[in-house]
Amino acid sequence: MAVTAVVNQAAPCPKRVGLLGGTFDPIHNGHLTLARRFVELLQLTELVLLPAGQPWQKEGVSAPEHRLAMTRAAAASLMLDGVTITVATDEIDRQGDTYTVDTLAHWRAREGDDASITLLMGADQFVKLNSWHQWMRLFDYAHVCVETRAGFDIAQLPAEVAAEFARRRATPEILRASPHGHMFIDETLLLDVSATAIREAARTKSGSAEARTQVPSTVWDYIVQHHLYQTR
Ligand code: ATP
Repeated sequence: MAVTAVVNQAAPCPKRVGLLGGTFDPIHNGHLTLARRFVELLQLTELVLLPAGQPWQKEGVSAPEHRLAMTRAAAASLMLDGVTITVATDEIDRQGDTYTVDTLAHWRAREGDDASITLLMGADQFVKLNSWHQWMRLFDYAHVCVETRAGFDIAQLPAEVAAEFARRRATPEILRASPHGHMFIDETLLLDVSATAIREAARTKSGSAEARTQVPSTVWDYIVQHHLYQTR
């Protein structure tokens, strides 16, 4: 008698939304590679890039209109078959301090209860997740996915973040099939690129040659045209 394997897999949510927030000063290939990786793993139907308004943890950030324009240019360079790419201005439009938890509440209301919504981030943010405003409430609205990053050790988590991860860790299949509340860490990428390094490198001629390889060409053109980062 033939034995039929029972595949115990919940159906994916029809809408699978990934949100990548950032200062994006500038948006770079690290962000885009991370985004592509999670589009693949979570089989996202929509990728939302969310430039921050005035990030409360950073100072001396370029004007929002520049960061928004660079994010739009980068979004246009992303070729992702069947994925809607949105550049959201919610955080830029909001006055004063903006908190991710409020942004996620907005996206949950917008996408409905059944959508799988995932907040994407790099390890540098994950290792300080407990410093985020009302961080435990993030899981009421979304899953959290983390990508490894050069220089940040995900084994060195604050105890409360580690405990939350142990409680909530799940596979990408589970994240795809449920609306919120789980976590997943992908350890396949270790991208040694940062906006800080790009801004610093852009100030010298030799540095610029390297920096321009780390952003989409349209983003580099924008940086040069608008004299951002004292480019040489
Ligand atoms: P800065 O150097 O100015 O602090 P950044 O390069 O970290 O900037 P952000 O815009 O602050 O860029 O990052 C947005 C999100 O992308 C964060 O969640 C961050 O962890 C993630 N990220 C940025 N660069 C990388 C990278 N190289 N690898 C993995 N995640 C990254």
